[in-house]
Amino acid sequence: MDDCIFCRIARGEIPSAKVYEDEHVLAFKDINPLAPVHVVVIPKQHVASLNELDALPADTQLALLRACREVARLTGIADSGYRIASNCGADASQSVQHLHIHVLGGGKLSVSMA
Ligand code: 5GP
Ligand code: ZN
Repeated sequence: MDDCIFCRIARGEIPSAKVYEDEHVLAFKDINPLAPVHVVVIPKQHVASLNELDALPADTQLALLRACREVARLTGIADSGYRIASNCGADASQSVQHLHIHVLGGGKLSVSMA
């Protein structure tokens, strides 16, 4: 998508602090971190949200989850603990309409999931 901010990051048109990349996905630091470690994992192919997961090839679907695990390892939070979350739609206040998974950690996280 031409004007999608995460597509533009995936194409390198907007700079980002890359944490992990493979042929399917890109992970970069969130510009407005909500935890000491806050990384966003995206598929390079545009889909709007988790609702459209089936539009992605199966290997990309798997790569998303594996990339979250890899981000946790690379940022040193695999053992201390972390949370992954994907906001989908209006009630979740999804602000970027390109599927992404937040990886949060590096300190005690709020117990609330809502
Ligand atoms: P959402 O609210 O849609 O779940 O999450 C979108 C996230 O993308 C937010 O946490 C926001 O800080 C992050 N974000 C938005 N624009 C940019 C950007 O240009 N660069 C980076 N690194 N993060 C961004
Ligand atoms: Zn996009």
